[in-house]
Amino acid sequence: MNSQSPSLPRLAIVVPCYNESEVFSYCLTELGGYLGRMISDGMISPASYLLFVDDGSRDDTWRQISAATKSHAHVRGLKLSCNKGHQAALLTGLANADNADAIVSIDADLQDDINAIGEMVKSYVAGHDVVYGVRASRQTDTAFKRMTAEVFYRLMTMMGVKQVFNHADFRLLSSRARDALLEYHERNIYIRGLVPLVGFPSAEVYYDRRERTAGVSKYPLHKMMALALEGITSMTVMPLRIITLTGFIISAVAILAIVVVLINKMIGNPIQGWASVIVALFFMGGVQMLCLGIIGEYLGKIYLETKRRPRSHIEEKEGFGSP
Ligand code: UDP
Ligand code: MG
Repeated sequence: MNSQSPSLPRLAIVVPCYNESEVFSYCLTELGGYLGRMISDGMISPASYLLFVDDGSRDDTWRQISAATKSHAHVRGLKLSCNKGHQAALLTGLANADNADAIVSIDADLQDDINAIGEMVKSYVAGHDVVYGVRASRQTDTAFKRMTAEVFYRLMTMMGVKQVFNHADFRLLSSRARDALLEYHERNIYIRGLVPLVGFPSAEVYYDRRERTAGVSKYPLHKMMALALEGITSMTVMPLRIITLTGFIISAVAILAIVVVLINKMIGNPIQGWASVIVALFFMGGVQMLCLGIIGEYLGKIYLETKRRPRSHIEEKEGFGSP
């Protein structure tokens, strides 16, 4: 059992927003309404709140958030100095969800079903520190997104990384699970890989993912690939081991080939042809470049980690005085 107080839990809902002016008012109405209903149903403390993190938006998202902090008692806003990416924005939000017993993170487009938040809170009250929102179906995702996600999850599992399948960043964390997560000081962040490492009792809540209500995805292909690469390089060194294994196998084959060539020469039957030599040369060149690239990727990450640069800078904070 987690160590929550016997009184109603104070819930914070953290929402990272990047150029979300088209969905913000919808998000505010829906989430604000849901929070209000949970408060009046006596599920959560009246001091619960929404925390919007503006991740350096270039549209008027911050202006809308700022206005909401003035017109709504349960709304807080944080403005990051520039775009730091979803994961960094989310962590900054988690770190600034002051005095909350439980913190739910959800995307601004509300593709994730807000009704699952009630289930998450019930699961938290029942003693779970981490409650994963899991997509029961991914019908609204494109076939490409479904396929790449499937391949990625399988790859990660093969490399020994524990992850909840079909779970993104829609989850509830108890304050102690949140504090534990914040103790991971790395700059290459892949939150959904770190949360299972935190441990504590966990549960899953299933929901159906919807279409984005408005606006376009803020995760274009290159950002998705960057996140996947971040996930692999920050969670496992298996690709480096695969390189070593490949090196062993190729060396063994090469030694065998040398023996075959020598024997053939000794028995007066030398192997002819430079084409095979060229092919082998190109093949080896390719493998070596690929291996160097993978090693370089890790080296680059180490370089960035050693700098220990801050994950984000907060430019403005609003609504933190209330409720
Ligand atoms: N987001 C962010 N910073 C970024 C990119 C995205 O804070 O650099 C937020 C975005 O506003 C949304 C969430 O991360 O709340 C997930 O983005 P999106 O819904 O566009 O991703 P998708 O559902 O298409 O994977
Ligand atoms: Mg989305």
